[in-house]
Amino acid sequence: MMTLGSDVSNLSGAGRIQGLSIVVPVFNEAAGLARLHERLCALAGTLRQKYGLACEVVYVDDGSTDATLSIARGLPPTALDVQVVSLSRNFGKEAALMAGLDHARLGAVLFMDGDGQHAPELVERLVGHWIDDGYDVVYTAKAHRDNESILRRMGVRTFYSLINWGSRQKIPEDAGDFRLLSPRAAAALRQLPERNRFFKGLASWIGFKQIRVDYEPEARAHGVTTFSPGHLLGLSIEGLTSFSVAPLRVASLLGVLLATVAFLFGLSILWETVVSGKSVPGYPSLVVGLMTIGGVQLIMIGVMGEYIGKILSEIKARPIYFVAEHSVKSADASTVADKTPQTAAE
Ligand code: UDP
Ligand code: MG
Repeated sequence: MMTLGSDVSNLSGAGRIQGLSIVVPVFNEAAGLARLHERLCALAGTLRQKYGLACEVVYVDDGSTDATLSIARGLPPTALDVQVVSLSRNFGKEAALMAGLDHARLGAVLFMDGDGQHAPELVERLVGHWIDDGYDVVYTAKAHRDNESILRRMGVRTFYSLINWGSRQKIPEDAGDFRLLSPRAAAALRQLPERNRFFKGLASWIGFKQIRVDYEPEARAHGVTTFSPGHLLGLSIEGLTSFSVAPLRVASLLGVLLATVAFLFGLSILWETVVSGKSVPGYPSLVVGLMTIGGVQLIMIGVMGEYIGKILSEIKARPIYFVAEHSVKSADASTVADKTPQTAAE
């Protein structure tokens, strides 16, 4: 039978618990990786004790140019399985997350940054919300943005009000990529067919029982962020156009607004000529009108271009990432199985 929806109820939320896959995208994180791994091993020990939960960690090396990959390969599978998935080049964080999601084997999935900003110690609380309280999507959000500039906060506000405009499932403001998905939520996320992925949006769009956990991100353990303001702006446009049609609606509304103004202006000119018999000095208003309309049209063509670009990249249907190398170490037998090379086209 063909259905147009998807039933993931057989993968219960918290009911039948298999284990937890921790997905960590790493891009040039050599300096802090060993330390992070130690903390994750400790975490796995705690989770096994408290919930009888099996854990694995999936390090997705996103084309690092430093020693990240060789360090990741050497990490010991103490208390948890270790998978290392190495992409053929830098595909970006969203693609790395997708690769991790595809390789996660234990049902529930936790996404976490590899720079130590997402504290492994908080995970216990997230897992509690999943197992004890039965939530499917446990997402974290910055408790406050006091340390950010007003310009940045305004940008964030605008972005979320645009992306949430008229949508039924609002994307929570401030939510980060540090989140836990129950087996059925992870399955739902895997089934979304689009290539342009905006994880925060999709993880909220799938629904299920969601809960927000406020936390204070730690300072980056080493190095600097890879996301500059310009990069963030690009990502925002990316997220906006792959997730919502709000910009197109703004375009239509602006068109209506301009047309209305022009109409009223026309009426007023008519009024002046007919009633007061003045000949109207035309050209300044003409130039202003032309420039306004010209500018607005260019912007709107740009907006439409963004969407056409999206359509093109969806139609090309290229794989989101290529895996160049993949290794699995099991916690118990510490056997190593190497499969090289392998692609995402499964
Ligand atoms: N990252 C990645 N690919 C990239 C850029 C970043 O996998 O092209 C990873 C990075 O290693 C880190 C996480 O994404 O684990 C978040 O990156 P970063 O700390 O630079 O971003 P921020 O915390 O400032 O948002
Ligand atoms: Mg960071």
